Amino acid sequence: MPVPAERRRAVEDETMTVDATARGGPDRESGFGRFFLPGPTEVRPAVLAAQKRALIGHRGEPINALMREIQPGLREVFGTARPVLVSTSSATGLMEAAVRNGAIERVLSLVNGAFSERFARIARACGFDVDVLEVPWGGVHDPDAVRTRLRAKRYDAVTMVHSETSTGALNPIAELAATVREFPDTLVLVDAVTSAGGAPVRTDDRGLDFVLAGSQKAMALPPGLAFGVASERMLERSARAACKGVYFDLVAFHDSLAKEQTPNTPAVTLMYSLAEQVRHISAEGLEKRWARHAAMARGCAEWANAMREDAGPELSVLAPEGFRSPTVTCLLLPPGRTGPEVVQAMKERGFVIGAGYGGLKARSVRIGHMGDHTLEELDRVLEALEEVLRASPGEGFAGGRR
Ligand SMILES: *Cc1c(COP(=O)(O)O)cnc(C)c1O
Repeated sequence: MPVPAERRRAVEDETMTVDATARGGPDRESGFGRFFLPGPTEVRPAVLAAQKRALIGHRGEPINALMREIQPGLREVFGTARPVLVSTSSATGLMEAAVRNGAIERVLSLVNGAFSERFARIARACGFDVDVLEVPWGGVHDPDAVRTRLRAKRYDAVTMVHSETSTGALNPIAELAATVREFPDTLVLVDAVTSAGGAPVRTDDRGLDFVLAGSQKAMALPPGLAFGVASERMLERSARAACKGVYFDLVAFHDSLAKEQTPNTPAVTLMYSLAEQVRHISAEGLEKRWARHAAMARGCAEWANAMREDAGPELSVLAPEGFRSPTVTCLLLPPGRTGPEVVQAMKERGFVIGAGYGGLKARSVRIGHMGDHTLEELDRVLEALEEVLRASPGEGFAGGRR
């Protein structure tokens, strides 16, 4: 058997009805544990249901109380003593805020996948002069190479993605940030969309100037909110920024935060969900949450190692060992198998996983093991994936299964 005994578990029955007790309690019923996209990810029923509370105005004591309630948990997630701003937008909105508030003229973008490439594209679209330092997709950036680039030319800001969701690679963010911090005029702008809530971000310790994340990834909330932390340097830069616009003006966010409000009407019902989820996150404990994510990433890698004996050496985790995201794994498929076909076969077995991204679409799949998923749920996904890979391509599993 290519898979360690403890990871193998017979599929309970052909329809794979979810056993609620195995799902970690009553809030994990209704089919939880089938949806492994690398965002949006599954949301606990209690967190979804929190949105049904009656609306409140966005000025006055009730919103202040809500804003107060969510701050401690958010600050813990980001590893910061600074206020965490809540934006009604997707994460891309705050990527744009990062460059509009943090750059003056010239930006260096560290690219190693689709989202880091998007960061560069946004900076360019905002009118900045953008240089790209690119490493192959799946790889991570080398601090020495970054230092060489920063010595050659002055940049106002460097953009980077902590967990590159398109490839499952985790950049050495502490080392990269420390390198950029050697250059006093250059700000560190970090997309932590699939790390915040699943891996330590440590905004303050690492001296990150702006860190952003979205609600629908490792935070396991519905889509529609984004979170950001701006350093004092970032706010000073923002105060002088010429083209920051209105909606994503970080100084305005901070002025409002001081009054426990947001500049404009926030998605109040999503904030109810956020308050509920912050309670779940602190009940679990962040260290445990990070460990759970790390265990899921290890589980994928061990599975791939074990499967390789039968499936061939091509079946592997794209990102190199030591630089793998705890929240998303990109698996390179054996020859003859394509991403879309495997994703479809998994769907027929009742599981949603992600297709490969961009140029990796044909030869990889991505498993988003983030948010509130457990190792046990992941095991079921991997069991199903093993069955899919053992079956001949094209045959699928749909016939007679329903
Ligand atoms: C999903 C994702 C984004 C974009 O988030 P939206 O909420 O869709 O705007 C940006 N960066 C990374 C790393 C992501 O995973």
